[in-house]
Amino acid sequence: MIIGVPKEIKNHEYRVGMVPSSVRELTNKGHTVFIEANAGTGIGFTDQDYIDVGASILATAAEVFATAEMIVKVKEPQAVERAMLREDQLLFTYLHLAPDLPQTEDLVKSGSVCIAYETVTDDRGALPLLAPMSEVAGRMSIQAGAMALEKNMGGRGMLLGGVPGVEPAKVVIIGGGMVGTNAAQMAVGLGAEVVILDRNIDTLRRLNVQFDNKVKAIYSTADAIEKHVLEADLVIGGVLVPGAAAPKLVTKDHIKRMKPGSAIVDVAIDQGGCIETSHATTHQDPTYIVDDVVHYCVANMPGAVARTSTFALNNATLPYIIKLAELGYRKALLQDKHLLNGLNVMHGKITCSEVAEALNMEF
Ligand code: NAD
Repeated sequence: MIIGVPKEIKNHEYRVGMVPSSVRELTNKGHTVFIEANAGTGIGFTDQDYIDVGASILATAAEVFATAEMIVKVKEPQAVERAMLREDQLLFTYLHLAPDLPQTEDLVKSGSVCIAYETVTDDRGALPLLAPMSEVAGRMSIQAGAMALEKNMGGRGMLLGGVPGVEPAKVVIIGGGMVGTNAAQMAVGLGAEVVILDRNIDTLRRLNVQFDNKVKAIYSTADAIEKHVLEADLVIGGVLVPGAAAPKLVTKDHIKRMKPGSAIVDVAIDQGGCIETSHATTHQDPTYIVDDVVHYCVANMPGAVARTSTFALNNATLPYIIKLAELGYRKALLQDKHLLNGLNVMHGKITCSEVAEALNMEF
């Protein structure tokens, strides 16, 4: 198969659809890979790195789109990219179509076959191509929170782990899934006092075993949230109710009563946020203060650590890229029901019921 990797063009997006080691796996199997010039330079991959593993470099995105049978990207295609998609061309990337009517209409019009990373499933009902970004964001949330607690950021001037003779900070993590577990790992590693709240008893049991009693895993009720949030120095919001907007578990009233200079990192902001006072921020201006509480609410946290994120994403996407290249999309989708769940648009039709429903379009 001929595979094309264009350079990402979304604002401040430095990730790339395939790292050189992934390209090597494909060229070793006899596939042809075209990379747009400078596609990986933002995260330290030169064109020569790609040439060394058997890829060819094309000067423009237009040439990549015109040549490839499968386009592998990271972010949803922007309008100029959508205009280059061809009938029956395969697109494999994050799409997030439900809130994006213009993109969906363009993909339908293109006649291409669009598989979205975020709706590919696995046997446990999880989303394996979304998980790596939650791992990254969960780990980053503690770094971001540690910075927010510094005096110059408006924080109360606390070191998460304290020092011998001085108490550590109290970190309260709401949601013990992928984000919450990874946040806990970092916070425990730094020596903070860590509480995780979740509604799933099995998750609480797992956390208890995994952290060998170094975290308090508490059942999430309004009462428990209020008690622990009011005692917290740092709150991490990592809840997810699949398919729904995040529930507002921390209220304006809680924020008013939190310790002055405490901090919140609302990772769930991409689903609307689980803190009533949250609104999305950017890496350029990541924090703001409400009632003396520092808020960090960046909606695309992994973008800041684009190199790590690209490797993490590629580790998860590579087996699917290989399957699609080896079998072609028809066979691959028929053989793998989880990959089929990733199919959002095909030959002018929406093939994902949630997207059709959200946009009131034909399924
Ligand atoms: P997950 O499904 O692995 O975990 C979510 C957890 O929330 C589950 O364990 C669930 O039981 C728990 N939960 C649900 N309702 C709860 C409640 N009322 N109280 C306490 N816990 C509750 O999801 P995840 O992969 O960890 O993702 C969490 C959120 O982070 C999602 O909204 C995801 O989109 C977001 N995210 C944001 C970024 C970013 O850059 N901002 C990056 C990655 C993920």
